[in-house]
Amino acid sequence: MDWYRTNRRDLAFRRTRDPYAILVAEAMLQRTRIAAGLPYYGRFLARFPTVADLANASEEEVLRAWEGLGFYGRARNLHRASRLILRDHGGRVPETVAALRTLPGVGDYTAGAVASIAFGVPVPALDGNATRVLARLFRLRGDLSRGVGRRRLRAIAESLVPATEPGTYNQALMELGATVCSPRAPKCAACPIQSMCGAFAEGRVEAYPTIRRTSTVPTVRVAFALIERRRKVLLMQRPARGVLAMFWSLPGGELGTHADEATGLRDLFRSRGLPVRIGEPLGRVDHTFSHRRWKGLILRGRPAGTIRDREDLMWASPEDIERLPVVSFQRRFLEGVAILPHSQRRL
Ligand code: SF4
Repeated sequence: MDWYRTNRRDLAFRRTRDPYAILVAEAMLQRTRIAAGLPYYGRFLARFPTVADLANASEEEVLRAWEGLGFYGRARNLHRASRLILRDHGGRVPETVAALRTLPGVGDYTAGAVASIAFGVPVPALDGNATRVLARLFRLRGDLSRGVGRRRLRAIAESLVPATEPGTYNQALMELGATVCSPRAPKCAACPIQSMCGAFAEGRVEAYPTIRRTSTVPTVRVAFALIERRRKVLLMQRPARGVLAMFWSLPGGELGTHADEATGLRDLFRSRGLPVRIGEPLGRVDHTFSHRRWKGLILRGRPAGTIRDREDLMWASPEDIERLPVVSFQRRFLEGVAILPHSQRRL
């Protein structure tokens, strides 16, 4: 903790004790590069400064504020959590791990982080960084995410959390993992707990923890159409479930086993009753999500009949596009083809 006090990075979410702001930070920044996530965090809190502000917002407004950060399920969970906090806890984030765990999207880590940092409850908060430090200190092998390995890790972690300043302790452990005890080539020479470290004594620091091999994500072919009419662009709302649920998108999507994108898109539009002629390619798509990769094309589309607005279909003006959550790589594309001015890039 002494090391942490002098070496910690000065990050916006560490300057607050507001439980809601801490909950937002945990939801937004988990498994996200901090440098990439921080601007979103600042904008999100400016847009929704209290639990009530978030709870009273529409899902579209919340997704718009989160747009580009990915992991949109987290945004939905945080939004639902804010409504439950307002309804069941009088708008105050609950203090205990048990109550926090009842909120959507809140697992052991987030509950431990919020309880310890915001309320001083002496419980561990084991993110990937803290887990790696403990695995090396205590030479823990095997899968630490489940079963015996997980129980052993948690028992050790629980026995270590101090009664005073547990939040500082948890953040110190996470910071040590993030900045010193890195997955590769940890800076053991600069480590404040080197003398206690089992892996260092053994001379095999990178052997801990056991790394699970990650499977490669499948590549899926996609195609979308830019269809314009009098300075408006046709947008389609994606279904309520699945990839980018409820985001507004250029019409199109994942294709079957077609030989090329134009044919696939033509079939897709035919099956949905959209009269569109497919034209030349305008841009490439290469976008990786956590669980799949989209590769394909954005093509010109021209209306071949009347296309009217309906619930999930809209002729969108630049102002509509600014207001709505739009698939982020498509927003960049629309800026690139000068349909959107760059000044409308963000909230
Ligand atoms: Fe990590 Fe090295 Fe410190 Fe051990 S000595 S905790 S491996 S940085």
